[in-house]
Amino acid sequence: MNLVMVGTGYVGLVTGACLADFGHTVICVDKDEAKISALRANHVPIFEPGLDGLVERNTEKKRLLFTTDLAAAVRQADAVFIAVGTPGRHSDGQADLTYVRHAAAEIAAALDGYTVVVTKSTVPVGTGDEVEQIIRDARPDAEFSVVSNPEFLREGAAIADFEQPNRIIIGTNDERARGVMSEIYRPLLLNQSPMVFTDRRTSELIKYAANAFLATKITFINEMADLCESVGADVEDVARGIGLDERIGMKFLSPGPGYGGSCFPKDTTALMRTAEEHGVPLRVVAATADANARRKKGMAERVLAALGGSAEGATVAVLGLTFKADTDDMRGAPALDIIATLTEIGATIRAYDPAGMEAAKPLLPPIAYAGDAYDCATGADALVIVTEWGEFRTLDLERIKSVLRRPIVIDLRNIYDRSTMASAGLVYHSIGRNAVEEAARPSASVTRLEAKAS
Ligand code: NAD
Repeated sequence: MNLVMVGTGYVGLVTGACLADFGHTVICVDKDEAKISALRANHVPIFEPGLDGLVERNTEKKRLLFTTDLAAAVRQADAVFIAVGTPGRHSDGQADLTYVRHAAAEIAAALDGYTVVVTKSTVPVGTGDEVEQIIRDARPDAEFSVVSNPEFLREGAAIADFEQPNRIIIGTNDERARGVMSEIYRPLLLNQSPMVFTDRRTSELIKYAANAFLATKITFINEMADLCESVGADVEDVARGIGLDERIGMKFLSPGPGYGGSCFPKDTTALMRTAEEHGVPLRVVAATADANARRKKGMAERVLAALGGSAEGATVAVLGLTFKADTDDMRGAPALDIIATLTEIGATIRAYDPAGMEAAKPLLPPIAYAGDAYDCATGADALVIVTEWGEFRTLDLERIKSVLRRPIVIDLRNIYDRSTMASAGLVYHSIGRNAVEEAARPSASVTRLEAKAS
C-alpha cells in the first residue's frame, strides 16, 4: 500500500520505518527541511536502538522516502497518518491541536481518490470529528474516512513494541476504512497481535486512559517507597510481593524520581482538562499528577540530606539526564527539576549522559558536562544516579570511590544493591530500601526546600 506519515518526529519516523519494513511504500513528510535533508543523507536525528539500520535498509529498497512536499505525497496515498506533536497548551495544559488542524487542512487540499486519514497523534476525545469537519468543509467532494489509531510505543524499545504490540487500537465505524487498516497491519494480524476495533471516540480515550493508569502505577509505588523509608521496609520486596499477583503485574513498579517524558505529564493533564470540560472529576489522575510533580521537586532534598544539609560550595555529579534510559529525549525529565533546585541552593553541577547532553543544554542552567561517568565523578562531593542507563549499572565502584571527594552515592533508580556499595566503601542512599536510608531521609531542616519549590 502507499502510505504517508505527516510528521517525521519520534512516532512518525519509527512508525514509517516499521511499516516500510512490512513491505508498504511509506513517504515520511516533515515541514522541518533540516530533518528531511538529514534523513535523506541517512542520518537519523533521534536516538532509538535499531532505528538507523531499519531506516537504512528500507531507504535502500526505496520503500521509505522523505520529503517536505506534503501535497505530492498525499495525492498517491491509500492512507495518510497524522503523527504531528500535540504539546500541552501553556494556558491550561489541554493538548494543543494547532499542528493537527494544520495537517488536516493541508491533507484536505491534496486528497485525490478514496483515502483513509489516520490520527496517530495523541488527541483529546472528539478530535477525529473535528479533523473530519475540517476536511469536509475544505473538500466537500473528497472521498475519505478519518480513523483513530493511537500509538503506544515506548522510547528505547520502540521497534520491538511496534513489531510485537500488546494490541493495536483502531477507532472507526466505517467498514471500508477497517478493511484498509487491517491490510496495513496484516503482518501483525498474522502474528496474532490483538486488534481492538472500536468507535473513534473510544479509541481516542483508550490512549489517555492507558497513560493515566501507568502514571498512577508508578506514582503508587513511589509513595509506597516513601512509606517504606519511614517504617523500615524494603520497597523492592513490596513491588515483587504485589507484582507477582497477576491482577497487579510486575511492570511499572520500579520506584524512582518520578515519571517524566513526552507523554505521561502532558497526557495526564490533558485528560483532566477533558474531564473538567465534561464536568467529570478524575480525582485519582489529579492526585497522581500532583504527587508526581512534588516528587520530582523533592528529589533534590535527598541529595541535600545526603550532603549533610548544605549544598553551598558542593560539587554534585549527575549521572543521567534523559527521562529514561536508551533515549535522547529530555522532555519532562526529572533531572531538569533536580539540577535547577540544586543549582539554586548553591551546588555546582557536573553532568554526564550517554545520549542526552545536546538536548539537555538549552533546558538547563549553565553547568559543566563530562566525557564519561568517571570524569563526571572526579572531585565531586556526591554522585547522583538519575537515569538507569546500562553503562551506569556496571561502574567500577573502586574507581568511583577513588575519584570522588566524598564517597557519597545517591541512587534514584535503585540500580545497585546496598551490600555491593558498602563493600566498595561508598555511603549509599537509594529509594525506599528500609531504615539504612536514614541519613538520606529529608530532615526537618530541609523540608523548607519543599515549601520553597512548591
Ligand atoms: P515530535 O515533536 O517528535 O514530532 C512531530 C513532528 O511533526 C515534527 O518533526 C514537526 O516538524 C512535524 N510537523 C508538525 N506539523 C507538521 C505538518 N503540518 N507537516 C509536516 N510535519 C509537521 O512528536 P512525537 O514525539 O513524534 O509525537 C507525535 C505524537 O505522538 C504526539 O501526539 C505524541 O503525544 C504522540 N505519542 C508520542 C510517543 C513518544 O514516545 N514520543 C508515544 C506515543 C504517542
